[in-house]
Amino acid sequence: MEHPENDIQYKGLKVNEGVSDVPTINPYLKKRIKRKEYTPSEFVEGILKGNITILSQAVTLVESAKYEHQQTAQEIIEKCLPHAGKSVRIGITGVPGAGKSTSIDAFGMHLINEGRKLAVLAIDPSSERSKGSILGDKTRMEALSRAKNAFIRPSPSAGSLGGVARKTRETIVLCEAAGFDTIFVETVGVGQSETAVHSMVDFFLLIQLAGTGDELQGIKRGIMEMADGIIINKADGDNIEKAKLAAAQFRNALHLFPPAESGWFPKVLTYSGYYNLGIKEIWEMINEYMAFTKKNGYFDHKRNEQAKYWMYESINDTLRETFYHNPAVEKMLQFTEQQVLRNEISSFVAAKRMMDLFLNNLSNS
Ligand code: GDP
Repeated sequence: MEHPENDIQYKGLKVNEGVSDVPTINPYLKKRIKRKEYTPSEFVEGILKGNITILSQAVTLVESAKYEHQQTAQEIIEKCLPHAGKSVRIGITGVPGAGKSTSIDAFGMHLINEGRKLAVLAIDPSSERSKGSILGDKTRMEALSRAKNAFIRPSPSAGSLGGVARKTRETIVLCEAAGFDTIFVETVGVGQSETAVHSMVDFFLLIQLAGTGDELQGIKRGIMEMADGIIINKADGDNIEKAKLAAAQFRNALHLFPPAESGWFPKVLTYSGYYNLGIKEIWEMINEYMAFTKKNGYFDHKRNEQAKYWMYESINDTLRETFYHNPAVEKMLQFTEQQVLRNEISSFVAAKRMMDLFLNNLSNS
């Protein structure tokens, strides 16, 4: 372009040649490759071959709230079911700081070194509230996260405990079909989630600590009653004697509980997850329990009971969801609630009205 300012006669500032703008979009950037969409049969084929990428994608479908994802997920699960059920399922609980991550890393590596394939799943219904799962951070299990035969999956983060637990249970099926012979289901030992974990595992392990004052304080009786094994962590250095003492206290306390249906008397062991001490003994205890309950029939009985439990849980979930998402119910629920709060109708009448409305609406649709 001609600039009069650049004339030799001109005394003012000259105009330099400009440079063209750099493109705002990098022309070298390749078009993003779209993730391949598998059919349910392709998913199943991949899972049965032990393809971890496909397994992970299938688990994502299980966890998804989208209707079409759920449809595909259910089809995959159904096809995987005949190939599932052959693993040892172990529930692991303990309050935050008890050493769950450290211990799972140590137990897990022990099993991997024995040639087993391990999936570590979690149930953490609080994760939605705390924005990001506390049981989700892979770096918590340093060695395992690098191990070829380990699959670590954080807790599904959506919604209610029932929903989260169901997804974890379905994930167990997929992992087993993919050839994982040991499943850990981890949960924080502070609330309701233990019951959910207990309803999907064969062996329930409670991690405890010694040297925190009154050893039995703060442990919910219910959780202790569910435990098939209590293991006292951090039995290392100065803490060994304290851990032994705590173990004795737990053993005494366990004698006060009614005998378990399995006929198995829970064991109490001490160990150190950090220093890798006493890990072998924990696994021996679990093997002993498996042999014992397989022999007396309790193992199969419990798995059947669990299957029944999950059938009713699914029915209840579906009923609840259909009810609350029913358009007629959605329209009237708030209003009816207000009527109850104003003492215009009783809770029972209100409930009956809502149920009638729901059932009429169902039969009309
Ligand atoms: P989590 O919250 O239950 O997952 O517990 P972590 O595994 O994160 O452990 C909590 C803390 O206890 C960490 O600082 C660990 O290093 C420590 N810890 C875990 N296991 C042991 C152990 O066996 N001995 C000792 N001395 N410390 C441990």
